[in-house]
Amino acid sequence: AVHVHGISKSFGSFKVLDDIELNLPAGSVTAILGPSGSGKSTLLRTINHLERVEDGFISIDGELVGYRQKGDTLYELKEKDILQRRADIGMVFQNFNLFPHLTVLENLIEAPLHVRGLERAEAIRLAQDLLARVGLSDKINAYPRQLSGGQQQRVAIARALALRPKVLLFDEPTSALDPELVGEVLDVIKELARTGTTLVIVTHEIGFAREVADTVVFMNAGRVLEAGPPALIFSEAQHPRTREFLARVL
Ligand code: ATP
Ligand code: MG
Repeated sequence: AVHVHGISKSFGSFKVLDDIELNLPAGSVTAILGPSGSGKSTLLRTINHLERVEDGFISIDGELVGYRQKGDTLYELKEKDILQRRADIGMVFQNFNLFPHLTVLENLIEAPLHVRGLERAEAIRLAQDLLARVGLSDKINAYPRQLSGGQQQRVAIARALALRPKVLLFDEPTSALDPELVGEVLDVIKELARTGTTLVIVTHEIGFAREVADTVVFMNAGRVLEAGPPALIFSEAQHPRTREFLARVL
């Protein structure tokens, strides 16, 4: 389970996250919606400690992200320990972020070898399994530029899974894709949801959120305005700002 407890963050005098509270049970799927600039990406980046918070904390299965606690004080972990802890949190970005000079296989085994310390043969077996899962076994020796956007994003998802994360964060995973490639990526994410991976997905794909998410979180100006089951949020949102946003995207 992921627990985001009262986190706040500012860039200069601009409060980008304002006292965010979220509980994500193990195996749950959470869709985060909200207008541009509302803090969705920043929230994801704080969950894997790419951004520091000023207030509050985040824990995954009871372990603090980025900090250790001594008495009442939190101390930031050393870079090496942050990297180890971050391996529990997979992240998939809008623009795939594959290593362009590495083949699909090399992209997939890099972190398992260097972060998890797997044997090469074991890392390769894992990569083969994951590629089969995202339907790309035949692309194992291709370079990213030889793949479509949808294929690159499926490799990026396999790469995130290769660290066996406790939670997988997606930041608009389909918004850089041609419309006809969106479905194949959403299908892979749906399959992950079905198999009980804890997922957090920032998305504008309302139909997908309605179908797959257990909880929809609506963010506005750095705050969670409301959160609840999709049926509730999409049909009877309490907050006028949520209704106005949904009216524009639905
Ligand atoms: P979008 O839907 O456009 O991706 P978002 O909800 O993901 O938006 P964020 O990227 O989290 O929004 O940004 C929230 C706000 O914080 C924006 O106003 C942005 O300009 C600001 N911001 C983000 N990163 C930084 C930074 N490194 N320095 C200063 N301001 C930043
Ligand atoms: Mg964003």
